[in-house]
Amino acid sequence: MTIDLPLVARGKVREVYDAGEDRLLLVASDRISAYDHVLPTPIPDKGAVLTRLSVWWFEQLADVLAAHGAEHHLLPPTHLPAEVADRAMLVRRLEMAPVECVARGYLSGSGTVEYRRTGAIVDVELPAGLVEGSRLPEPVFTPSTKADVGEHDEAISFARTVELVGSARAEQLRELTLALYRRGHEVAQQAGIVLADTKFEFGVSGDTLVLADEVLTPDSSRFWPAVTWSPGAVQPSYDKQFVRDWLTSSGWDRQSPPPELPADVVDATRERYVAAYEALTGSSFG
Ligand code: ATP
Ligand code: MG
Repeated sequence: MTIDLPLVARGKVREVYDAGEDRLLLVASDRISAYDHVLPTPIPDKGAVLTRLSVWWFEQLADVLAAHGAEHHLLPPTHLPAEVADRAMLVRRLEMAPVECVARGYLSGSGTVEYRRTGAIVDVELPAGLVEGSRLPEPVFTPSTKADVGEHDEAISFARTVELVGSARAEQLRELTLALYRRGHEVAQQAGIVLADTKFEFGVSGDTLVLADEVLTPDSSRFWPAVTWSPGAVQPSYDKQFVRDWLTSSGWDRQSPPPELPADVVDATRERYVAAYEALTGSSFG
């Protein structure tokens, strides 16, 4: 595949191209990453599933954004190169806020690790007695830095967020992140899915806050089937769980280049991504 546009950046999963006139083309590949490594085996259709899901969510979230005087970065899908049309988004090129805006409604992952150690997630105090998978009394904002390639994102305090973006902007990011999470949670709940947590990225255009990047996908969020939700253990999820479980059982040391995935793991993972898309949007992936 060749795209005849200047490549601006290549992330683990996506390529970003300069589409001219202050526009970017974000192209989601079928690459999958786990434990900070890109695996050698792609998951067919993953890029298309994540792109179509993001586009769907931007619409679902439009009124929440409008109520906060904010916008999203999606532009009408003209100029999409045919070979990537199903997995590309044309967006406004923005100055990105240097924080990843994480909302958590449930305790999980790095949140659980930190909570066990300190009873809090950085400066956000949580009640005693929570376990992996517990619902929090209310959703919390736990921002993190945007790590450089190969680095781990690092959770930061609200005070540090204020240092990075100023206090008015930090308040606005927190309010909007939590409002978007609440809407996302409500919409997912109707589809029988628990939106445990998610990460948003925002840009600014003049004075307007603009929701950017991908939104509420299995790569940026934890989605759990509501029927199996049962706090106290790692929850079954709609993402790379098969991949992570298989990698763990394969004996891979998480340092050397990761192994190829067997076909059944690829298929099961593809099915999970498609199932999440279909459950949320109510339409068939095709
Ligand atoms: P990785 O995913 O490998 O950790 P990454 O997050 O930098 O790296 P991607 O997510 O693949 O890479 O690439 C998307 C990049 O584009 C991110 O850096 C994101 O912040 C940026 N981005 C998303 N939307 C916009 C936008 N509207 N304007 C400018 N930059 C954007
Ligand atoms: Mg990213």
